[in-house]
Amino acid sequence: MTKPVVLCDADNTLWDTDSVFATAQRTLLDVLETRLDRLSDLSDRIEYVRRYDQALASRHHLHLRYPPVMLVIALAEGLTGRAPDEAATLVIAGHRSAHISLSEAQKLAADFLGLLSTLPELLPTVKDGLKLAREEGIPLYVVTEGRIDKQKQIITHHKLTHYIEAIFEITKTQSQFERLRQRFHPAQTVMVGDQPDRDIEPAKRAGCETVLVPSRFLPSWNRVGGAREASYKARDFGDAIRWVAQHVERGHDAP
Ligand SMILES: [Mg+2]
Repeated sequence: MTKPVVLCDADNTLWDTDSVFATAQRTLLDVLETRLDRLSDLSDRIEYVRRYDQALASRHHLHLRYPPVMLVIALAEGLTGRAPDEAATLVIAGHRSAHISLSEAQKLAADFLGLLSTLPELLPTVKDGLKLAREEGIPLYVVTEGRIDKQKQIITHHKLTHYIEAIFEITKTQSQFERLRQRFHPAQTVMVGDQPDRDIEPAKRAGCETVLVPSRFLPSWNRVGGAREASYKARDFGDAIRWVAQHVERGHDAP
């Protein structure tokens, strides 16, 4: 009998990248508000920054990996009156702010990147889930669109190397999931992740089983429901692995 194989997202599925971003975003907003002597017009300060962040990400070809100096300039424009969509469009078109110099924006972007290099904490029940997968003989691979060296650093820091077969840095498209599914055939492949559009939909179209572990980080483009149905919606990572161990077809023996 072939055991299922788990493909697992990293950020906000295994560890709390969201909190690292929230701290960096809040700090950037604090600094800019003081520098420009303006206050953001929303009580939820993280939400304020993320409106500008997501307006940039949804327009930039690197998506969430757009250069952070763009966020600094867009926020400077935001604090001086521009709405997120308008600010993002101008910044991506190469517009420079009248309110902050490029060199100062670059310095704030470097500070922001420094805060983002903080290693995230593991999410609750992750260690239990990884142990259970190992006990059940279910191989677990990390698949990420983040940088592989950063993921390795976090895995080593939290002493998880023993639980993870390998890390794949991939673009999460249907064809990439199909390639992985073929690789592990005849084992059933299960994708576990927190983002419906990156982790669930392309994996489901590729024929993988899918488990959604919802996270606090839910960008605007993921807030519409509809066809984004995972095979199972787990409470947390430990619950996801228990479901895999109990419910997933253990693959089909090769003819
Ligand atoms: Mg994620």
